[in-house]
Amino acid sequence: MASTLTYLKNVTSLALDADLCTGCGMCTVVCPRAVLSLENGKAQIVDRDACMECGACAQNCPTQALTVEAGVGCAAALINTALGRSEDDCCCVVDANGKNSPSCGPGCC
Ligand code: SF4
Ligand code: SF4
Repeated sequence: MASTLTYLKNVTSLALDADLCTGCGMCTVVCPRAVLSLENGKAQIVDRDACMECGACAQNCPTQALTVEAGVGCAAALINTALGRSEDDCCCVVDANGKNSPSCGPGCC
């Protein structure tokens, strides 16, 4: 089902190489916007315009089937970067030591 929370239309850099996808489903678990879905054992982009380029799917894809230029979609990343905590490639840079968590997960963003 498409999200009603469209981010920006026709601008996301999200790309999926179906040949590399093993159908593990991890991207559907970590995506906070329900952009991806598993269909017939493969990931599908089902709501492209809801993607906010947080980078969680690409970071957690074991086969690099997903690529995205993690950008300005995550306010937490921008804030953490401004605070000098760590890199801005993930929205889960929130621990007390300023380290990136290994992956985004449900409830993120
Ligand atoms: S995480 Fe990667 S391999 Fe797994 S379903 Fe998503 S695109 Fe396919
Ligand atoms: S970049 Fe973030 S919002 Fe976009 S598809 Fe991946 S996990 Fe979902």
